[in-house]
Amino acid sequence: MKFSDLGLSAKVLAAVEAAGYTEPTPIQAQAIPEVLARRDVMGIAQTGTGKTAAFTLPMISMCEKGRARARMPRTLILEPTRELAAQVEENFEKYAINHKLNIALLIGGVSFEDQVRKLDRGADVLIATPGRLLDLFERGRILMTGVEVLVIDEADRMLDMGFIPDIERIVKMVPFTRQTLFFSATMPPEIERLADQFLQNPVQVQV
Ligand code: AMP
Repeated sequence: MKFSDLGLSAKVLAAVEAAGYTEPTPIQAQAIPEVLARRDVMGIAQTGTGKTAAFTLPMISMCEKGRARARMPRTLILEPTRELAAQVEENFEKYAINHKLNIALLIGGVSFEDQVRKLDRGADVLIATPGRLLDLFERGRILMTGVEVLVIDEADRMLDMGFIPDIERIVKMVPFTRQTLFFSATMPPEIERLADQFLQNPVQVQV
């Protein structure tokens, strides 16, 4: 399997080549065509399998059409910790070198105003921890009604950290017609129940 067989745009393929990747990992080969086909995806994969690129690469391709409006992120990625959120942002920046995307990071411990300024400009991609996102939403600084793709990453860690009620609140704020990508390293019954609740007719990918 080659990256060029997966349906990614030429600009994304050029960034993948610049990153030095020669072939897709199994999760990338399975998930990328499904994400591009706008299917909901349930991915069972650990960190280290290349799962971040499995959702970031097709999302960048999809963001080529259309533009973000002020305070209305087009895509939302939820991460359990600041460190993971920052890592995902770094990945997006690396893969979006050939794109003019506005990528915003919303995490605790960073100046509120800097983060809000990026959102005000219109974020194509918003990467957030649940608490900070809800905080900003309650202050009326962000609208969730334009979210076309929602990623819930590291769902089992979200569960361990007690974030599930926050995630449930956030999911209720984004449009029902969104595409949802749900990743977890393990699939205990509680996570399975959440996947059932959040996903519509998902494709399951497992490595
Ligand atoms: P992740 O599982 O998303 O945390 O990725 C683990 C590491 O693998 C990251 O450092 C990526 O830069 C790297 N990586 C992702 N996809 C590929 C690939 N197709 N070929 C080589 N390295 C990759």
